[in-house]
Amino acid sequence: MAEIFHDADADLSLIQSKKVAIIGYGSQGHAHALNLRDSGVEVVVGLREGSKSIAKAEEQGLEVASVADAVAQADVVMVLAPDQSQRAIWANDIEPNLKEDAAVFFAHGFNVHYGYIKPGPTHDVCMVAPKGPGHTVRRLFEEGRGVPSLVCVEQDASGQAFELALSYAAAIGAARAGVIKTTFREETETDLFGEQAVLCGGVSQLIQYGFETLVEAGYQPEMAYFEVCHEMKLIVDLINEGGLTKQRWSCSDTAEYGDYVSGPRVIRPDVKDHMKEVLADIQNGSFAKRFIDDQDAGAPEFLELRAKGMAHPIEKTGQEIRKLFAWNNSNLDKDYTDGEA
Ligand code: NDP
Ligand code: MG
Ligand code: MG
Repeated sequence: MAEIFHDADADLSLIQSKKVAIIGYGSQGHAHALNLRDSGVEVVVGLREGSKSIAKAEEQGLEVASVADAVAQADVVMVLAPDQSQRAIWANDIEPNLKEDAAVFFAHGFNVHYGYIKPGPTHDVCMVAPKGPGHTVRRLFEEGRGVPSLVCVEQDASGQAFELALSYAAAIGAARAGVIKTTFREETETDLFGEQAVLCGGVSQLIQYGFETLVEAGYQPEMAYFEVCHEMKLIVDLINEGGLTKQRWSCSDTAEYGDYVSGPRVIRPDVKDHMKEVLADIQNGSFAKRFIDDQDAGAPEFLELRAKGMAHPIEKTGQEIRKLFAWNNSNLDKDYTDGEA
């Protein structure tokens, strides 16, 4: 069973006695910086020259510096730039400027676990990984609540690395909800598996196949979109609230019976064999290598796959249908190719 910690287990004064550099001011970065600041922690945000994020951080009254300058004055450095950029930022601006006893924090284990970042032996290496988007981390904190988070230690140079990480987690509000102890390996491998096999990869492919099946059978694309995509959120909300049991309780008996008899016909037992292959590629590092090699080459495969995904007919149908829900969607005209949070 997982060990779970709460506010009463954390000593907030540990992080309050440190200066924390937050590198990056995107989804997670803005939430960590603001929550720490509001918890009485001294924060400096490290950003590259010309960054669009500088104005946003300054508007919130935060101190902003170059990555090098922020790192040089920090006792704790939280790396919240995109995973594929972290190795270069580490080598160029973080490692050369790091105080000898500074602690290095991450919100995802990718770069440390796969060896792209190797902090020297004098540094604590910790993770505080909220299990939710940064904007939720900030919103719930402001409401007096928090997003459950994972905490772990890869390297304990100070002898107090876990206590420090727990203190950080409390300062961003996570310990109000609960903090689960894990390892860099477990967090990284389960996170990648979940998003690839189920949450992102699995769900996207399932939706696309469902849409294709109905459209190829002559049904209107708009109907197909409603039935295999739009309603997904309603179902997932029920699962989130009360598990598969609540979802099945809330749906009609017809839907529930169809779930039992047809679900296993579509997602056949050999799907699990393929999931195990995906997991093996995550465990042996070949997924990480493929991703980073492609990113280093300017991301040709990634960009080609993204373009292919955006060209799928369901995206066009969805765009039209979602206009009917304009009152419910403030992001309608957003350009999703810019990668910004
Ligand atoms: P974002 O993509 O939102 O981060 C963008 C920020 O990083 C921007 O401020 C951007 O500034 C800055 N940045 C990008 N490149 C550089 C660079 N070379 N030097 C300095 N700053 C740079 O990241 P996320 O918040 O999504 O992810 C951060 C970390 O948190 C990752 O490790 C991720 O796995 C983890 N995580 C993310 C979650 C999420 O909900 N998004 C959930 C849990 C963990 P600029 O204007 O210069 O581009
Ligand atoms: Mg992930
Ligand atoms: Mg239906």
